[in-house]
Amino acid sequence: MGSESSDRAGEADSSRPDCPRCDEPVGFVAVSGPTTASVSPCGCTVPAAAVQRE
Ligand SMILES: [Zn+2]
Repeated sequence: MGSESSDRAGEADSSRPDCPRCDEPVGFVAVSGPTTASVSPCGCTVPAAAVQRE
């Protein structure tokens, strides 16, 4: 009774990585080179692999 396990509260975490430089939530990632990316709104340049999720 009452054991509903369809409440996935911890799944909204996968769409927004944090900036690896300043730890701000990343809103937008713009690839600026083969291995680098610029993140908004903080504006840091970070390794693309650090903010790409596949
Ligand atoms: Zn940043």
